[in-house]
Amino acid sequence: MNKIIIAIDGYSSCGKSTLAKGMAARLGYMYIDSGAMYRAVTLFFLRHQISLQDEEQVRKALNEINISFNAQNHTILNGEDVESEIRRMSVSNYVSQVSAIPIVRRAMVRQQQAMGRGKGIVMDGRDIGTVVFPEAELKIFLTADPEIRVQRRFDELKNKGIKSSLEEVRQNLRHRDHIDSTREDSPLLQAPDAVVIDNSNMAREEQLEYALELARSAGATTE
Ligand code: C5P
Repeated sequence: MNKIIIAIDGYSSCGKSTLAKGMAARLGYMYIDSGAMYRAVTLFFLRHQISLQDEEQVRKALNEINISFNAQNHTILNGEDVESEIRRMSVSNYVSQVSAIPIVRRAMVRQQQAMGRGKGIVMDGRDIGTVVFPEAELKIFLTADPEIRVQRRFDELKNKGIKSSLEEVRQNLRHRDHIDSTREDSPLLQAPDAVVIDNSNMAREEQLEYALELARSAGATTE
């Protein structure tokens, strides 16, 4: 059975994790949500009031952080299931500042690359095809209409019982997209060899089948 690395990048709330999870399930691959790792770091920094300007403090904090995923794909921070806490607006509003710090990125990228050593992995994020796995056999860059993304994120938060307004979600997506694509270290960029999928008007199933076809063409063995 031939296993490959699949990198999925794109702006916030383009449906990256839905596609990544679907592909991983159908291929029998591991799914890694790299955004959850940056969110977990952010939660730790918020809880411990780490100053982002103090490099020594940031470095020390990073040494105390251990992130993993359990069987349900929940994010585990130092042994605690923080899956719902890292989705809150307080974390969303701060995560892009935290993830723009080079030493934070270096620590996360190192772990992400170790996870991909055995291949058979689908990872989603902002720099997966450009920095984490530039050699990935399949790179997908997802896009969707900004207002559709706002509505999707709003519905997702509502389903999780997290209170927010459309305007708050709109501002947060704009803010994160701006920082994520203009930061100096590993900005969100489309890899030259990425396949672009605009899923604004695509059904989930249709998108999944199309992406699986791309995976087969890239060498993945499927049933
Ligand atoms: O994917 P998600 O929207 O949960 O990611 C949260 C934040 O983490 C992004 O807005 C971005 O600032 C950061 N991130 C990143 N690099 C990645 C994945 C996420 O900088 N590979």
